Amino acid sequence: MYETLALYIDGEFVEGGGRDTQPVVNPSTLEVLGQLPHANTADLDRALAAAERAFATWRHSSPMQRSEILRTVGQLSRDRADQIGRNLTLDQGKPLAEAIGEIVSCADHCDWHAEECRRIYGRVVLPRSPEVRQMVLREPVGVCAAFTPWNFPYNQAIRKICAAIGAGCTIILKGPEDAPSAVMAIARMFHDAGLPPGVLNIVWGVPSEISEYLIRSPIVRKVSFTGSVPVGKHLASLAGAHMKRITMELGGHSPVLVFDDADVDRAAQQLARFKVRNAGQVCVSPTRFYIHEKVYDQFLEGFVNSLKGIRVGDGLDPETQMGPLAHERRVPTMSKFVDNALELGGKVVLGGEPLDRSGHFFAPTVITDVPDHSMLMTEEPFGPIAPITRFSDTDDVIRKANSLPFGLSSYVFTNSLQTATKASNNIEAGMVNINHFGSALPETPFGGIKDSGIGSEGGTETFEGYLVTKFVTHV
Ligand code: NAD
Repeated sequence: MYETLALYIDGEFVEGGGRDTQPVVNPSTLEVLGQLPHANTADLDRALAAAERAFATWRHSSPMQRSEILRTVGQLSRDRADQIGRNLTLDQGKPLAEAIGEIVSCADHCDWHAEECRRIYGRVVLPRSPEVRQMVLREPVGVCAAFTPWNFPYNQAIRKICAAIGAGCTIILKGPEDAPSAVMAIARMFHDAGLPPGVLNIVWGVPSEISEYLIRSPIVRKVSFTGSVPVGKHLASLAGAHMKRITMELGGHSPVLVFDDADVDRAAQQLARFKVRNAGQVCVSPTRFYIHEKVYDQFLEGFVNSLKGIRVGDGLDPETQMGPLAHERRVPTMSKFVDNALELGGKVVLGGEPLDRSGHFFAPTVITDVPDHSMLMTEEPFGPIAPITRFSDTDDVIRKANSLPFGLSSYVFTNSLQTATKASNNIEAGMVNINHFGSALPETPFGGIKDSGIGSEGGTETFEGYLVTKFVTHV
């Protein structure tokens, strides 16, 4: 059975009532899975009032209580991973093993926040006069509004929810309408874990209308968004106009630097597998490939051969390694990137087209001879397309890696400590992965710089965006 779709407001699951609805479609089979109710203005007002009311008590809740609830949700995630994962494959398309893996790894995010929220400390500052006391307190910022996308529906939502709830905030979250089941499952788990009504509220609707309404409300004190750079900038400016704190996890265009002293065959194979993860719909997906000219041919051959072996199909088929794109609008977008590359002299070495079958499938694609100013080398494709280019000089390739306004993730393959150090010192990115893919663990900070965002999720930094600093002094 697919998830029952509802709003979750003030501890109640709400559906029906003549609200607008939108169909949720399986991107592989095009079957309609369910009808998602949209929140109306009265629903949003109720969610705001509930979150405000709940904050008055939740802000003073014991970290032990918050920790216990987060731990329970972590355990429920593990217990329910098979069912939640199956529904995630149905509405988002990713292979079942990836979907279940997303749920299970997020259980660790719950545990991490359950542990870290017991360690939100202030400090005592030594006074200039002995009779004075000076304390720095960390307090929850208040009601948060969060907007999460469709590529990792479970992961993106639970990280924001755990950080807000663990810090003592309350939250209204609008999940991805294209793939809502995982966020519904999160609401059910927090409900079952005994979270007080109003601490977590889930709404759906037209994204621009909901975000505008919530961000403008004086009740909301913090805005958190994961998604594209243009939308992030728009929401950040709305939040700025009302002086609200923000966390922005935005798009990237991750450069990959493969040096001639790297284990080239291993790099080619690993990068090919990583490129098609979630059909390339990953903000930290390896996106611009710069390969040292001495190993370019070897890399290209290994990379293309690995991609040729990728089985593309329905996510529920256990043989499938790459599913469809998550929704209809992504397929013509992929073709636009390919067409632009071809117009500018690019050569398609593999794929380049939608698959000739029903569903939103696009072939794993490799394109060479793409100029630096092409769409593919400058805009986030967010799909299974890899442009492969060559370089000869280390300083030059680092300059190219830094040439875009994005700064999310980056990948370096080298066996030289000197090159690795130079790259990690000079690449402008929130994350630098050397010889492996190591980002997005609960205990490590995840976030971008430049246009890729503001703030970190995960690591000991995870609560930073959800706390304010208060200085108290007395004699
Ligand atoms: P889009 O820019 O319309 O939407 C991206 C996400 O933002 C969606 O989840 C959407 O619901 C939400 N959104 C859009 N407008 C909004 C608004 N005004 N208020 C609140 N939320 C809003 O594009 P799309 O076609 O859904 O996705 C394509 C692009 O989005 C990709 O090219 C990629 O760059 C970006 N994206 C990034 C991530 C990420 O993890 N950083 C995730 C999903 C999509």
